[in-house]
Amino acid sequence: MKKHLPSAAAALAGLLIASQLAAGASIKKKEEAVASIERHKAEIIALSDRVWAFAETALLEVRSAEALAAYAEKQGFKVERGIAGLPTAFVASYGEGKPVIGILGEYDALPGLSQKAQPVKEALQAGSPGHGCGHNLLGTAAFGAALAIKDLMTAGKLKGTIRFYGTPAEEAVGGKVYMAREGLFSDLDVCLTWHPDDKTRVSVDGSQAIVDFIVEFSGKTAHAAADPWNGRSAVAALEFFTTGLNRMREFVRPTVRMHYSILNGGDVPNVVPAYARLWCWLRDSKGAGVDQLMVRTRRIAEGAAMMAEVESKLTVQGGDWETLVNLTGEKVMFANLMWLGPILFTPEEQEFAKEIQRATGVDPKGLDGEVKPWAAPKADPEGGSTDVGDVSWIVPTLSMNATTAPVDTPWHAWPVVACGGMSIGHKALVYTAKALAATIVDLVEDPKALQAVQAEFREKTKGVVYKPFIPEGPPVASKH
Ligand SMILES: [Zn+2]
Repeated sequence: MKKHLPSAAAALAGLLIASQLAAGASIKKKEEAVASIERHKAEIIALSDRVWAFAETALLEVRSAEALAAYAEKQGFKVERGIAGLPTAFVASYGEGKPVIGILGEYDALPGLSQKAQPVKEALQAGSPGHGCGHNLLGTAAFGAALAIKDLMTAGKLKGTIRFYGTPAEEAVGGKVYMAREGLFSDLDVCLTWHPDDKTRVSVDGSQAIVDFIVEFSGKTAHAAADPWNGRSAVAALEFFTTGLNRMREFVRPTVRMHYSILNGGDVPNVVPAYARLWCWLRDSKGAGVDQLMVRTRRIAEGAAMMAEVESKLTVQGGDWETLVNLTGEKVMFANLMWLGPILFTPEEQEFAKEIQRATGVDPKGLDGEVKPWAAPKADPEGGSTDVGDVSWIVPTLSMNATTAPVDTPWHAWPVVACGGMSIGHKALVYTAKALAATIVDLVEDPKALQAVQAEFREKTKGVVYKPFIPEGPPVASKH
């Protein structure tokens, strides 16, 4: 995969183009999109709060997906449910012809993170899931943007097709990867999405590629004291494997992340364990880096099995490509964040945030709703992966972040759940719906801007053939 970074001068020129765009003829239509979101605001927020309260985890988002799908249908979208073999995936579309604009929405929660919408840690329902990644806001804000574009289309002010993708299980198997395998994104001209964050900015740093796999060892059981010579321990092989993997850490690039969880490690000490199983994720900045790691990891598994005189099996069960950033598109989005200005939080919301920060041991700086200045993309993304990565290699994909939680507080944790169920999250939701809708207006109104986005995509994907990491068949729900 090639890497293409524009010069500083080109970046500046792009910004100028983008700011002219924001001030151009489309401004009136963008104002109408904003007004449409204001009109639907109460409904969209109520929808987000319902999804927040459902707090359904990956592949089990039955009520959350249905709430969104039913609302889309009520608003005049054509809805197709249960697509790509995923019961909680759907597509809601409106309009006809080109351009075809996609918006990605998520709605899965995380296990064990139930939390009330208050600045003190207390479960809504002990042991239940919670929206620790803010996906209740993600899906509804994304749909809010689709709805505003639909309103403009209905009024005859915008041409083309708007398509909202309800994408399940981002936190687990990655619903988008299965939808990508079915070719569901292939006819899009451009795709937009966002993610909750502690900052408001365009996402130009991308995300890591990841491969998700299981390693199994099978040996022979025996009495661990009476006849251990008849046994061959699968757990011994597992220990050799983790030793090998952990030694390899010294000889990988600093961008690599490796983490695992032991799922089966024997039952009782006096039985030589015949079976052991480990679940592992390997990540790097690029898919090519992960491929190299996988070659080495397979050899470690084989070597471990050889030493323990047992059999090994490595099964890839999923993975995401790294996110391909489209700087031309991000500049259009950036101009729209600047046009909207910062997210303004009240003193009460700032105090709510500071109370959370004090409770989680971070600096009580409150919330930062300022739009972060344009910055050149980092050479490597920070740690983390998303199934948006796969979509970004099929269609130019633009993404942003909006402030839904206090500065520096832990993510995938109760503060995110707390803020996502009250006015802080609601403000980010409404803001993002406006930012995405305004960006779409710019891209539809100015075919040259859209063509430039597509030209950058073609240049960066030259010679690349997209192939998902996932194996044949439907996702394995038991893996998480
Ligand atoms: Zn997330």
